Amino acid sequence: MAAPTELAFDWGGTPVPFSVRRSERPTLRIVVTPEGEVVVSAPSHASDADIISRVRRRGAWIVRQRARFDRWRPRTPPRQYESGETHLLLGRPYRLLVEAGTSIGVRIEGSRLILTEPDNKGLVFRRTVLRHWYRLHAHRIFPERLRAVLPPFARLGVERPRLVIREMTHRWGSFTAKGALVLNLELVRASPSLIDYVIAHELAHALHPDHGWGWEELLTRAIPDWRARKDELERELL
Ligand SMILES: [Zn+2]
Repeated sequence: MAAPTELAFDWGGTPVPFSVRRSERPTLRIVVTPEGEVVVSAPSHASDADIISRVRRRGAWIVRQRARFDRWRPRTPPRQYESGETHLLLGRPYRLLVEAGTSIGVRIEGSRLILTEPDNKGLVFRRTVLRHWYRLHAHRIFPERLRAVLPPFARLGVERPRLVIREMTHRWGSFTAKGALVLNLELVRASPSLIDYVIAHELAHALHPDHGWGWEELLTRAIPDWRARKDELERELL
């Protein structure tokens, strides 16, 4: 296959770059990657001008996809794990204080998140310690929230699913074909009402695999204001 060609289309005065791979395919295909790159596969005979005009016709969709993926990228600068940074737990902001101590530990005092370490350990160590601390909270809180959210679904025959907590890059949760509820560890930074929305969203998938009318109706019955919570989740974090 030939090397990709770099092209761009104009969207409201801003050039949107994309790469094109030509092959013996009959149709044009556009993919927006989670990194925000636009990748086009085109028939080998298509001209650059033809490709640009056809990709531009999908401009609104492309821009929307990129905005959607953007929301997943941290808005705050990457964490340095230095005193003074803000870290969230259950929707509440805490100010990190790193202090020297005889042992390794994390605790909350008022609005401060205090990390003690025997000597100046640095970013990687602190990130590992805090991730472990977040994981402990997730394992305590997510099962509690699942218990609280489950009843309207249980009445329809949904059994309490196996709960899996792990790091996920592009979603807050999923409901697997084997009936497990998977939640993104990062969700422990969000407030309980937002955690509840994600759990209910996924539990509704136990009966309705798609986001169709049945799913929506069931979710609305469980969490009437789920749309507001969804917006908040997309706006707020992290
Ligand atoms: Zn869904």
